[in-house]
Amino acid sequence: AIILSLRITPFGERKRQRLVVGRDITKIYHLNMIRRDFVANASHELRTPLTVISGFLESLQDAPGTPVAHRRPLTLMRNQTDRMCSIIEDLLTLSRLEMHDSPEEQESVDIPDEIHLIVQEAQALSNGRHRIRARVDEDLLLIGSEPELRSAFSNLVFNAVKHTPEGSHIEITWHDAESGPRFTVEDNGPGIAPEHLPRLTERFYRVDRARSRESGGTGLGLAIVKHVLNRHEARLTISSELGHGSIFSCTFPQHSALVRREVDISATG
Ligand code: ADP
Repeated sequence: AIILSLRITPFGERKRQRLVVGRDITKIYHLNMIRRDFVANASHELRTPLTVISGFLESLQDAPGTPVAHRRPLTLMRNQTDRMCSIIEDLLTLSRLEMHDSPEEQESVDIPDEIHLIVQEAQALSNGRHRIRARVDEDLLLIGSEPELRSAFSNLVFNAVKHTPEGSHIEITWHDAESGPRFTVEDNGPGIAPEHLPRLTERFYRVDRARSRESGGTGLGLAIVKHVLNRHEARLTISSELGHGSIFSCTFPQHSALVRREVDISATG
């Protein structure tokens, strides 16, 4: 079979006619599939040996007979192995997201509940170094995939913690905006220079490689966010100003919104 990419544009006087341009993308499609399968298989194969190495390093670290001079290198090795494990987990997540265009299971997701949990986790990660606040419409739910949405939202919130200095303010909002339900994370951290913004959602793209690695990220967080949002027909907008902070917003289509209804038990019983 031939795979065609079609572009339809209005043309002619009063733009009444349509110009259809078809492009044979069969080869690109197959190459993309080979790349996707390769990444998924390689990640899967690397996962087991790395888990074994990490386990042995942990027991060596804890063993009473381990010389004191070996403890520091063992800790460093363990940290690096754990980092590799996180990268592999994120690569596997991305491969799974690429398999299908939309989530296999859609359900009503209690976003307010998810946000409260994410805030607790962010507070633990920040360890009191940030001021984190959430303004949440408690009755606004969303149709979608719970694990995917949780992963996208937590990536954005944890990024705000990881990439801003001590004392920064982070504000999370969830409300029904004019164009649809919107999740926003705003921080008053260092901000991002405009030339980086269009490339932020590429795999392994980082503004400051050394510093971002130090913060413990895999460089895949925003790529995951973009994939999850595409699958939910949602849009990611990033606005940022150097020295003033960044705003990451996810806007969902109106038809995916759900309003929480209190079930009146006395009436049904
Ligand atoms: P990482 O694992 O490095 O956080 P991401 O894909 O999540 O990877 O983010 C890509 C890069 O975008 C980060 O390395 C960082 O340079 C930049 N970034 C993301 N969020 C913020 C933020 N809130 N403030 C400043 N820079 C950010």
